[in-house]
Amino acid sequence: MNKGLLIVISAPSGGGKGSILKEMFSKDANLVLSVSATTRSPRPGEEHGRHYYFISRDEFQKQIGNGEMLEYTEYCGNFYGTPRAPVEAWLEEGKDVVLEIEVDGGAQIKKKMPDCVSVFILPPSMQVLEKRLRGRGTEEEAMVQERLKTACQELSHVKDYDYVVFNDRLEDAVADVQAILQAEKLKYYRNTNSIERVLKDAETF
Ligand code: 5GP
Repeated sequence: MNKGLLIVISAPSGGGKGSILKEMFSKDANLVLSVSATTRSPRPGEEHGRHYYFISRDEFQKQIGNGEMLEYTEYCGNFYGTPRAPVEAWLEEGKDVVLEIEVDGGAQIKKKMPDCVSVFILPPSMQVLEKRLRGRGTEEEAMVQERLKTACQELSHVKDYDYVVFNDRLEDAVADVQAILQAEKLKYYRNTNSIERVLKDAETF
């Protein structure tokens, strides 16, 4: 069996990656989303173990110390990190794993696992981004401002990604991400096991 694909998806907060991913997961049973750990408080409706593992700063530090995080960063005053064990297990099982993480974490993953596919989702404009962030209504004004400032800095990292998807229309953006994954999965070096099997068969002819 071929190993699964590790997919890093980044977009500034409010960039619309949530909607894109929701669509993707409804269409692809082989895709799994890594649930991150964070020290930020849950927003209304967010569940421990489903949206995030909401843990204390002490617990977060302990997990870093034990090497349990594949990557981690501090973002707008809170820690966020990807638990290593489930990601490694899923990849071994042949599942395609999505990490929905910010640019610093994305860079760490690219360095550690250069085989990953990284996709940056660009909002149509900063105005749209601001509207989406405010529309969410879950953040205080100071936090909206901080997230907007962070978003501007994050945009400059788009050049470090393998692909960029423009999130104008949801259906187009979803189709674009699917096309990227489809093409990546068909790369020669990702299919050596299956290719070898066919070539071995061919020897018996
Ligand atoms: P939010 O607080 O809006 O849920 O997330 C803030 C930012 O943290 C988003 O850009 C999100 O993609 C990023 N993020 C979520 N989980 C992780 C993680 O495990 N690692 C890193 N580096 N960033 C994360």
